[in-house]
Amino acid sequence: MKFTSVNPYTQQKINSYPALSAQALDRKIRQADRAFADWSALSLENRLAFFRKVAAYLRSEKQRYGELMTAEMGKTLKESIAEVEKCAVGVDYYIEHAPKFLADLTIPTEARKSFVAYQPLGAVLAIMPWNFPFWQVFRFAVPSLLAGNVGLLKHAANVSGCSLAIEEIFRACDFPTGVFQSLLIESKTVETVLKDARVKAVTLTGSEKAGASVASIAGSQIKKSVLELGGSDALIVLADADLEQAAQVAVQSRMQNAGQSCIAAKRFIVEKTVKKEFTDRVLHHIQAIQQGDPMDEATTMGPVARIDLAEAIESQCAKTVRQGARMLHGNAERNGCNVAPILLDKVKPGMTGFDEETFGPLAVIVEAKDEQDAVKLANQSNYGLGSALWTKDLDRAERLARQIQAGSVFVNSLMRSDPRVPFGGVKLSGFGRELAEVGMKEFLNIKTVWID
Ligand code: NAP
Repeated sequence: MKFTSVNPYTQQKINSYPALSAQALDRKIRQADRAFADWSALSLENRLAFFRKVAAYLRSEKQRYGELMTAEMGKTLKESIAEVEKCAVGVDYYIEHAPKFLADLTIPTEARKSFVAYQPLGAVLAIMPWNFPFWQVFRFAVPSLLAGNVGLLKHAANVSGCSLAIEEIFRACDFPTGVFQSLLIESKTVETVLKDARVKAVTLTGSEKAGASVASIAGSQIKKSVLELGGSDALIVLADADLEQAAQVAVQSRMQNAGQSCIAAKRFIVEKTVKKEFTDRVLHHIQAIQQGDPMDEATTMGPVARIDLAEAIESQCAKTVRQGARMLHGNAERNGCNVAPILLDKVKPGMTGFDEETFGPLAVIVEAKDEQDAVKLANQSNYGLGSALWTKDLDRAERLARQIQAGSVFVNSLMRSDPRVPFGGVKLSGFGRELAEVGMKEFLNIKTVWID
C-alpha cells in the first residue's frame, strides 16, 4: 500500500510514500510510549526551549514548507506561507502563556492545602485533514506536547509529504525520538492504534462521518476524544451593516483556500432591504478573483485539492439550482480541479446549498425578513461551528451573538481561528475545544490534591 501525492493544479504525481507495516507501526507506538516517560518528566522550562527552536525554524523554512503545501493541496503560495507563519505565532503564544496555564491552581477550602495540578496523559493520536495541513497539526501539537504529552499524527492520505515534513521539523529541532511521529497509515488502521493501550486519547479534525467512527471507537475504550468537524457557517448581514466591508470579508471568508475551510462563511443571510446592494457588492468582489497556478503571485484562488472534491461541489451547485436557486456567478466548463467561484441567489432551507456543508468555492445568498428571522435561519442547520454577524449596533450584536448556536460568533470581522481564543463547535460540528487555555487542557489529567 502506498500513499500518492498529486499536484491538483498540474495533475502530476509528486511522490509516493509506502504505508507503515504492522511491525513499523508497533515500533512507533512503542517509541512514543517510551518517550513519554522522559518527556513528561522534563521541566516545562526545558520543553519550552525546544519550542523556541520550532518557532525560529518554521520562520526560516516557510518558503520551502509553503511550496510543499501548495504542491500537495493547491492553496496559493501566499496562503501557504501565511499558514507556516501562523504556526510560528501559535508556538509564540503558547511559549508565553504555558507557564501560567499549567501552573497549579490553589483552591481555598477547609483543607490545609487544596490545589489542582495539570498532568499529561501520554500518547495522543491526532487525525488531521488536508485543508490546513500545517496549522491543524500545530494547533494540536504545540499545546499538547508543551504540556508533556507525546503526539502520533495520522494525516490525510493526500498530504503525506506535509506529514513527514512536520515530523522532520521536530527532528530538526532536536526533540527526543518518539515525542512527535508521523504514521503513514490508512484510516482503517486507526482502530488498531486507538485500541492500543499505549495510546491514551484522540483528536480528529475532519468530516462528521470520520468523527462518528473515531469517537465510537474511543468511547468503546473509554478514551478521551476531541472532534473538530464540519460547518455550514452563517454570515448574517443586517440592514445597518457596513455593506462594503461585509461583502468584502464575506467573499474572503468563503473563497480563501478555494472555499475549503471548515469556518468559511457558507450561507450569507441578508436582511431583505439590503439584499440587492449586498449581493451586487459580493458579485463585484467575486469577479475580481484571479484563478490560476497557485504558485503564481497574481493568483488569488488555486484549485480545490482533489477531483472528487471538484465533482462534489459541482454536484451540490447543480442540485441547488434544480431546487430553484439562481446562479449569479460560476461557469459550466470546469478545468480539472479549478472550480470557478460560484454565487447562488434565492437559496432557502430544504435546498442542498443551505442544508449541506459545501466544501469548495460556493457562496449562497439567503434572504431574511428581519433580525429574528436571520438568527432563526442561521440556527436552522445541523452544524454549529463558527458564524459572523454584521451590524453597526453593538448592543444588538451582543444580544444576537448569544442567540446563535455556534462555537464562535465574530461581529464585524472575519471568522477565524486565533490561538488566544477557544475554537470548536456544537451540534454536528463536534465537541471539545482547541487553542487558548481550554484547548491546552483537553488532554490533561486535571488532578485535585486535597491535604487535610
Ligand atoms: P475526512 O475525510 O473526514 O478526513 C479527515 C481525516 O480523517 C483524514 O486524515 C482521513 O484520512 C481521516 N479519516 C477519514 N475517515 C476516517 C475513519 N473512518 N476513521 C479514521 N480516520 C478517518 O475529512 P475531509 O473531507 O478530508 O476534510 C474536510 C472536512 O473536515 C470538512 O467536513 C471540514 O469542515 C472538516 N474540517 C473541520 C475543521 C474544524 O476545525 N472543525 C477544520 C478543517 C476541516 P484519509 O485521508 O486517509 O481518509
